[in-house]
Amino acid sequence: MPAVDFIRSGLRMAYHTPVLLEEVVNQLQPRRGGLYVDCTVGGGGHAREVLRACGPEGQLIGLDWDDEAIAASRERLSEFGARVQLVRASYTELERVLMSLGVTAVDGVMFDLGVSSRQFDEPARGFSFLREGPLDMRMSRQLAATARDILHTTGLEELAKIFRLYGEEKRARAIAREIVTERERTPIETTTQLARLMERVLGPKHGAIHPATRVFQAMRIAVNDELGNLKRGLEVSTQFLKSGGRIAVISFHSLEDRIVKQFFVEKNAGCVCPPQLPACACGRKEVLRIVTKKPVSAGEQEVRDNPRARSAKLRVAEKI
Ligand code: SAH
Repeated sequence: MPAVDFIRSGLRMAYHTPVLLEEVVNQLQPRRGGLYVDCTVGGGGHAREVLRACGPEGQLIGLDWDDEAIAASRERLSEFGARVQLVRASYTELERVLMSLGVTAVDGVMFDLGVSSRQFDEPARGFSFLREGPLDMRMSRQLAATARDILHTTGLEELAKIFRLYGEEKRARAIAREIVTERERTPIETTTQLARLMERVLGPKHGAIHPATRVFQAMRIAVNDELGNLKRGLEVSTQFLKSGGRIAVISFHSLEDRIVKQFFVEKNAGCVCPPQLPACACGRKEVLRIVTKKPVSAGEQEVRDNPRARSAKLRVAEKI
C-alpha cells in the first residue's frame, strides 16, 4: 500500500472505534434489503457493518449534526454508493429528514450517544479538560451557545442546577459560587482554566476521578441538550419503526441509560384501565417489546482494547 493511503486508512480508523459493534449488529438483526437509520453516524463504524449485513440491496440513512462526522462517514462509506444517504441534521429532526427522502417506515434504528473520540480528542472542540482549548463543547456548530457562553450568562442557582442534575455533583452550589466570583474577575475562556478552577474548589482529587470530570460532563449535556434530545429522538424514531423492527441504543452514563430504560418500560406498558371497566378507556397500547432485560455491556477484551467501552450499555427493543 502506498504510504499516503496507509496513513489515510490509519486516520480513518482513528476517527472513532465503534463500541459493542458485534452486539449491535446481532441485536439489530439487519435483514437483506432492509432500510436502517443510524441516528448518530459519527465516523460510520456501526453503519458500515449494518450495511454489510443488509446487503446487497439494503439501505442506510445516516444522520449526524456535526459536519466533520458527515464528511468522515461519507468517505468511510463510499464503497456502498447509493445504498447510503447521509444527512447533516439532529436526530430530533428525523421526521423532517425521512419525509424529505420519501420514507414512511424503517426496519431498524440505532443510536450511539455522546461524543465521538474524534470530537473528544480535538482540543479546539473543548470537550476534554486534559487538552488546552476554548470552552466550546458544541457537537454541532449550528448550536448558538458554547460552554463559555453558558458559563458566563447563567445565574448562580441555574448553574448549580446544571452541575447537580447533569453532573450528579454533590458540591454543585459551591462550584457555581466559585465560577460566578471568578468570572467577574477574569473571563473563563479555556478548558484548562476551568479544570484548574475545579481543582481549587474541590481539591486535586475528588474521589477517584479528576475534580473537573462531573462539571465537564454537566456542561456538555447542557450545551447540547443531550437528555432532551434523547427523549425526543427515541419518541420519533419509534414512530417510524415497522412492526418487528428494532431500536438499539448505546448509552455512556447513568442519566442517558435511565432515560432509555424508562422509555422502553413506558412503551412496553399496555392498557392501565381498572379490570372492572367493560372496555379500555385509556387507549394505551403496548408499542415496544423489551429485548434486553438487562443492558448489554462490553466484554473484558473490548474494554482493554478501547477504554471508552467501559461504561457503554446497549438496550434494545422491538416494535410490536
Ligand atoms: N457510531 C459511530 C460513532 C458515534 S459517536 C461510529 O461508529 O463511528 C456519536 C455521534 O453522535 C457524534 O458524531 C455526534 O456528533 C452525534 N450526535 C450527538 N447528538 C446528536 C444529535 N442530537 N443529532 C445527530 N447527531 C448527534
